[in-house]
Amino acid sequence: MFDAGRNIMFQEALEGKADIVDVVVVGAGAAGLSAALFLTRARRSTLVYDGGPTRDSVIEQVHEFLGYEGITPAELQARGRAEVVRYGGEIRREAVLKIEPRPDGLFDVWSRQGMVTARAVVLATGLVDVLPSVPGLREGWGRDVHVCPCFSGYEVRDKHLVAFGLAELLAQLGSFLTAWSPSVTVVTPHEFDSTALDRLHELGVEIVRDEVTALVRQDGRLVSVSTAGGTEVPTDAVFVAAPLRAASDLPASLCEVNEAGFAVTDADGRTSRPGVWVVGNANDPIGHLAHATAAGARVGPWVVNYLIELSRSRKTA
Ligand SMILES: Cc1cc2nc3c(=O)[nH]c(=O)nc-3n(C[C@H](O)[C@H](O)[C@H](O)COP(=O)(O)OP(=O)(O)OC[C@H]3O[C@@H](n4cnc5c(N)ncnc54)[C@H](O)[C@@H]3O)c2cc1C
Repeated sequence: MFDAGRNIMFQEALEGKADIVDVVVVGAGAAGLSAALFLTRARRSTLVYDGGPTRDSVIEQVHEFLGYEGITPAELQARGRAEVVRYGGEIRREAVLKIEPRPDGLFDVWSRQGMVTARAVVLATGLVDVLPSVPGLREGWGRDVHVCPCFSGYEVRDKHLVAFGLAELLAQLGSFLTAWSPSVTVVTPHEFDSTALDRLHELGVEIVRDEVTALVRQDGRLVSVSTAGGTEVPTDAVFVAAPLRAASDLPASLCEVNEAGFAVTDADGRTSRPGVWVVGNANDPIGHLAHATAAGARVGPWVVNYLIELSRSRKTA
């Protein structure tokens, strides 16, 4: 069994002999837990904060994640948490409220329980799918209302599929869906350009030029989509092209972000601020669980090297 006591600095921090941990990871989804697993195994004192559910917590089964097909998000989470704890990491179920960079290059991390100082910070805070306020949509989210056919297209193969939402993503979503079903309808009040229109027609995608006003269920089963003009489009499943935004303001408070709040990083999650990394959906909105897991693992060695250099520079200063 692993001897958590070997993670000496963390033990001291926990026992009150020191008030500094090597790394605070914010977010215990695939990205944050994967980073934490690497860091704890590299014997860095690692404290993970998690303030709420992961993005995939609404679904019953995970797909498109090699080795884990059909696992529940809860089971995946539980396994990841246990692995981090096994190597001496601590996971606190609370939100980080703010992170203050200090003049000495360290970071004061605040939650309701107080403050912890970290030598480095990994933000894995995920994103929010900004769902349109259409009656019947939210209650089906992750069940018969889907975000991407990569995750659930196979489960609704050959069914009647409807796509609607953000105009700029809709032509691509409609054509992509034809990989899974020959019956795809795009409902939108917007005009597609002629190239997109030709492509959709060639692929056999039907276009209803109208606005979706409600999702209709009978006996709990999705049966149609209602439009403003009074059309009922029969469907078994809908796919929504929803805007995405960063789930937390923490990246924006610490480093360069884009207009939707996603951190601007290099391929290794390195941000504009030394000592701060961002991984997972917080900087890669189209990333799947596999990508988020890989990103967390990828950031680990860089954080460890940063910590080694930090301690060396302090000794020689
Ligand atoms: C409906 C749906 C179905 C999906 N199905 C699949 C699938 O089958 N397969 C697949 O590969 N991908 C799927 N995905 C995508 C998957 O959810 C993401 O790829 C994955 O969750 C990204 O992991 P992450 O760690 O970056 O973010 P998340 O898993 O969202 O984790 C972020 C964590 O950070 C926490 N957090 C945020 N702010 C704070 C704060 N201030 N303090 C503390 N904690 C904070 C959040 O509460 C959350 O727990 C699906 C997505 C949706 C919406």
